[in-house]
Amino acid sequence: MTTFVATWREPGEVAIRNAWARRQKGGSLLDCLEHGLAEAEWDASLLAIGRGALPNADGEVELDASIMDGATLEAGAVCSLRGILPAISVARRVLESTPHVMLAGDQARRFALAQGFEPTNLMTPENIARYEQWCEQNRPGMLHHVHAVGQHVGDTITMLGLEAPGHVAAASSTSGLPYKLPGRVGDSPIVGAGIYADDEVGAAGATGWGEELWKAVASFRAVEQMRRGASPQEACEAVVRQMLRRQPKSRQLACAVFAIDLQGRVGGAVTEGEFPVWTCRDGELSLTVHRALET
Ligand code: ASP
Repeated sequence: MTTFVATWREPGEVAIRNAWARRQKGGSLLDCLEHGLAEAEWDASLLAIGRGALPNADGEVELDASIMDGATLEAGAVCSLRGILPAISVARRVLESTPHVMLAGDQARRFALAQGFEPTNLMTPENIARYEQWCEQNRPGMLHHVHAVGQHVGDTITMLGLEAPGHVAAASSTSGLPYKLPGRVGDSPIVGAGIYADDEVGAAGATGWGEELWKAVASFRAVEQMRRGASPQEACEAVVRQMLRRQPKSRQLACAVFAIDLQGRVGGAVTEGEFPVWTCRDGELSLTVHRALET
């Protein structure tokens, strides 16, 4: 049995279908997570990640991505990567071809170019028009990321994978919060915050307001809850309840956590609004919508 779990309704479906397609061709868990996210990055019709995603306050798309292998705890990540697709494949290259975990900004781009990735224009007529409209309504030069509060649009896909009898992996790709301050990095490329995977326990991922999720070290915390015996649902709820208690700001914008254990049980929880999560069990897709926890 192979199980994939992916965040957000529209982009998540694209990623999870492509992950499963790669699985049917014999791909490893890491291959499938990378392929699923890469296909969603290339898809300019998705207002989510990669090409066509909403840019930063300078009108440039800056990408963050990470991938982690639960068998070895090896991980690779990139942040503030500009003009290169797919960011998730560059993250995987960091995992496999360097002794490091993360490369950042212009030097991540330089690494990608040296690895054979092509420079790519990530701005489409649609996201240029959205950016121009945003500029008319906002004053460039301010601390832009605050404008994103209350406007979560699902600009990230985080995906988990499990193969019997007990191997997990996790990956995430994002354009970050829309119109973020240039150089801002959220939880998604941070191991422990945006993703975590450990074959001793299971895997977890996060999406939503990256600053709050990072402060909560949300994914690692969920995995550690499961290590202590919690089910994935109990683990995610514990993380979200702690955020609501200790980080009152986390109510302002969705902060979502989801997890899978080695038995294939899946859970999810969110601080605000709705959190749709796709599950694919040997090709069978289902969508679960988690609603904000009552406090
Ligand atoms: N967590 C991402 C970030 O803060 C955004 C998202 O999940 O939508 O960069």
